[in-house]
Amino acid sequence: MRHCRLPSTTISHKSSIPFLKVVLCPALQSVHACRDLKAGEELTINYLGEYFLLRAKRRAELRHNFAFDCACEACSAPHDVVAESDKRREQLAQLQSGIYRHIADSNTAAALAGQSALLLL
Ligand SMILES: [Zn+2]
Repeated sequence: MRHCRLPSTTISHKSSIPFLKVVLCPALQSVHACRDLKAGEELTINYLGEYFLLRAKRRAELRHNFAFDCACEACSAPHDVVAESDKRREQLAQLQSGIYRHIADSNTAAALAGQSALLLL
């Protein structure tokens, strides 16, 4: 994981495929990149705190809570691409739910198997 200091104004846009995770704690606010960054690339965050919402639900929540229509790459993609994205997000949500259930049941092997499947999606 790489760290850098950023002026707060450099993180200005929302995306449904964000690559930054903002971590808040009393002493420090930090931002973690989920992948390598290219020079000059726009930095985006997820406003909703939920990564597996389908496009229609994401857009409805953004419209209701933040009064804008999201035009990020995931939300403005062609219908067939959105259908694939939504399908993958549903699979990810199911896997995540299963992992939590396995952890609650102390089934470590099943939880790890679910985590591996999740990473492959
Ligand atoms: Zn979006």
